[in-house]
Amino acid sequence: MLPPRCDCTQTPPLPTQRTDRFPFPLLPLPYAYDALCPALSGETLCFHHDKHLKTYVDNLNDALRPWPRYHNWPLERLLRSARALPPELRAKIINNGGGVYNHNLYFAGMKSPAEEPLGPVGALKAAIEQAFGGYEGFQSAFTESASEVFGSGWTWLVCGGEASGGGLRILNTSNQDTPLAAGACPILLLDLWEHAYYLDYQNRRKDYVKNWFSLISWERANNRYLLCCSQC
Ligand code: MN
Repeated sequence: MLPPRCDCTQTPPLPTQRTDRFPFPLLPLPYAYDALCPALSGETLCFHHDKHLKTYVDNLNDALRPWPRYHNWPLERLLRSARALPPELRAKIINNGGGVYNHNLYFAGMKSPAEEPLGPVGALKAAIEQAFGGYEGFQSAFTESASEVFGSGWTWLVCGGEASGGGLRILNTSNQDTPLAAGACPILLLDLWEHAYYLDYQNRRKDYVKNWFSLISWERANNRYLLCCSQC
């Protein structure tokens, strides 16, 4: 049961429609609010998805409404081309479009901590072994990178982009910035804004990072990796 101060109602499934361009919908969570317990509570998921993400969706649509020339652009194209957008639109797309893009990937990239597999699978498993010496090496490198995010931001596992040689790498971004403009393809990502964990962990961000590993949907991450690698 959700605490009474969280007035969320599970977002209904979308009718069949394009979801990657204006007007952007609030995508439903792919699981129940309390599916990530005990790592993240239903209350955290409720506020994070229904309040924070919805605000980014609404602000992105408000920003794009007066610009019909961009209504057919997928979100990835808007973000990759952000530096070329009109100055009065640019920051709104980077902040709110990034907020929508990052949160959709973040929520879709998690699953119940009880659900297997609990470690990397498939081609991504082999790539993690090559890049980090194995899953433990990846966890340690990702945790260290996350500890270096000061203020609000994200830690990412990406493929491709500048100086990557086509392999995997871990990087941080600030605010709602994405690695798309740098040519990298996101495989998985961790939200390090306080709103992502504060109700459950308060100042214990390290514990949130540690428990997030049990939430990674490795099947989904492997699918992202296969998609990314075909682009690298
Ligand atoms: Mn967030």
